[in-house]
Amino acid sequence: MSVLVFADSSEGKFKKTAFEVVSYGKKVAEQLGTNVIALTINASDSSELYNYGAEKVVSVTNDSLNTFNAKQYASVVTQVAKAESANVLVLDSTINGLYLAPIVAVNLEAGCVSNTVSLPSSTKPFSIKRKAFSNKAFSNTVISTENKVIGLAKNSFGVHENPVSGATVPFDAEIIDSLVKSEKIERVTGKVTIDDADIVVSAGRGLKGPENWEMIEELADTLGAATACSKPVSDLGWRPHSEHVGQTGKPVASNLYIAIGISGAIQHLAGINASKVKVVINTDPEAPFFKAADYGIVGDAFDIVPKLIEKIKLFKAS
Ligand SMILES: Cc1cc2nc3c(=O)[nH]c(=O)nc-3n(C[C@H](O)[C@H](O)[C@H](O)COP(=O)(O)OP(=O)(O)OC[C@H]3O[C@@H](n4cnc5c(N)ncnc54)[C@H](O)[C@@H]3O)c2cc1C
Repeated sequence: MSVLVFADSSEGKFKKTAFEVVSYGKKVAEQLGTNVIALTINASDSSELYNYGAEKVVSVTNDSLNTFNAKQYASVVTQVAKAESANVLVLDSTINGLYLAPIVAVNLEAGCVSNTVSLPSSTKPFSIKRKAFSNKAFSNTVISTENKVIGLAKNSFGVHENPVSGATVPFDAEIIDSLVKSEKIERVTGKVTIDDADIVVSAGRGLKGPENWEMIEELADTLGAATACSKPVSDLGWRPHSEHVGQTGKPVASNLYIAIGISGAIQHLAGINASKVKVVINTDPEAPFFKAADYGIVGDAFDIVPKLIEKIKLFKAS
């Protein structure tokens, strides 16, 4: 029996969530009196995971896995879980993790719990807390199957250093055929992605038009942040759909979320309320977003944002 975590990477580099799932898996393994094993696929330096408690890293290297394919990746995770006799599998809650969890759960005949926010409160029965109803409630869930798949909500456990002297072993996985193949991936280069961002600067219809996004980008660049937007903004074609956040867009769990000219509709809040600190800039003091905000500025974005950029630049220069 062991705990297996999938430490996801992109172009060889670990995603931030990889360190969080390993930190979490280590603690679950301690609760179960077993060890944690990390699985990497085409990662360039698996030894980075020893810092977070992974005594053993199973490394799969195969050019066919250079781009994420849910069916193929799920098959690899399943093969490694079986080979390592792992009956608890921990995945992150990025898009990849959300795709993988149910497929691997079916493969392993495992109970699957997504949006997990804490360590199991007991291991017999295996009881675990998860977010429910678009993060408006918690549900205590018992997994009664022998095999268990846990999807860890981003930023819910944190990254904890726990250095061990680990070892990496290669694993020769069988790569299954897939009905779908990515031919080419075009990445937005030089930009912080919403998934990996500590800070997100997001703007809504209050910005009036796409021509006004220059100041949003400048604020984001000054802070080293990713840019995001509300749904109508991407529906109107002012910004790309990849920036749409909320219930029907990307979930955001950043340390700081700055919302500019966004009203704070429930569908928007549902996707961003896992962020730690929320700052709102809005002309309307009655905008619902202020109720969810940690800090709020009532005022015109066109006055405030340039001043904010100036102050942050001055602060950084000093
Ligand atoms: C099924 C469903 C799913 C949805 N999913 C999502 C989703 O995932 N994400 C999402 O965002 N929405 C979603 N929506 C839409 C959501 O209900 C809101 O309509 C949307 O979030 C509003 O976007 P907004 O705040 O940019 O625009 P508005 O509601 O038009 O708000 C603009 C805000 O800007 C402020 N403002 C105006 N001028 C200025 C200025 N100069 N300076 C500062 N502030 C200013 C206004 O006071 C106002 O509060 C969904 C809706 C449905 C029905």
